[in-house]
Amino acid sequence: MSTTTTPSHATWMAHGQPAAFTYFGRKGSGPAAEGTEVASVSRERNTLTLLAADGSTIEQIGVTAKVWLAASTDQDSPAADQPPAADQDEVKTYLAGQPVRATWKGHGNPQAFTYCGAATAGPSQDRAAVVKVTKAGSVLALLLEDETQVASLGAAGKFWAIVPEGSKTTTTKAKGTPRQVAKPTGARAERIAELQPKAPAGYAVLWPHASHSLLKATDQAPEGSSPWLVLCNEHGTTTKAGSAREGETLGAKAKRQTWCKKCQTAAAKAEAAKAGQTPADEAK
Ligand SMILES: [Zn+2]
Repeated sequence: MSTTTTPSHATWMAHGQPAAFTYFGRKGSGPAAEGTEVASVSRERNTLTLLAADGSTIEQIGVTAKVWLAASTDQDSPAADQPPAADQDEVKTYLAGQPVRATWKGHGNPQAFTYCGAATAGPSQDRAAVVKVTKAGSVLALLLEDETQVASLGAAGKFWAIVPEGSKTTTTKAKGTPRQVAKPTGARAERIAELQPKAPAGYAVLWPHASHSLLKATDQAPEGSSPWLVLCNEHGTTTKAGSAREGETLGAKAKRQTWCKKCQTAAAKAEAAKAGQTPADEAK
């Protein structure tokens, strides 16, 4: 048998909206001598129906009516500190915690989190349980379970959210999708066409810059070729690079002089010329 606390007189809401309890009537004069075990409460607008374990109606009362009831203490049914059954699903997806303001990326690219608005002033009391985020270009759409859009914001926009640790995805890369290298277009394509004749056989100009370019080995490159070459655009000199990053480092002006003799000569000449000039001219 369940042990019960002493009955108290209050509205069902004030009692903490318990689902299961012992009901002692609602007479203002005092609790009934015999309590009735309520197994569940069904709420229809402002009317509460107290139901017994077999589903039969014990009594119907107004939601504002004060009732005598004692909480059952040995049941694992929703307790007084839990939200009412009707709202439970909605509430459990909201996360406890302090909302943090950051960009979506700053939040860890989460798919599921509690959205608390985007106002700079502070997190909103209106919270939404976002379960999905779709990204189109630089626009993010935050969606509820029923696909309702909660908010649409720029990828660089900051918003308030409570993010569960498990929802963070460290990488934005789509699973299983090979990295696509965009076909060069416009000015870049023109520049590539211009510089390609300077590239050694088996190499394609991939990243043309003002003074140097990164060349990537193609299938036609001989066995054992360096994966990358750096080209001095002006002199057509090349040097090997183990990676694109290394290539970019080697292509920088100061570094270029270490592998392009003509750049080195040009730099030496410039240095000599500079020595004979006024600082005003130097600024040019
Ligand atoms: Zn050079």
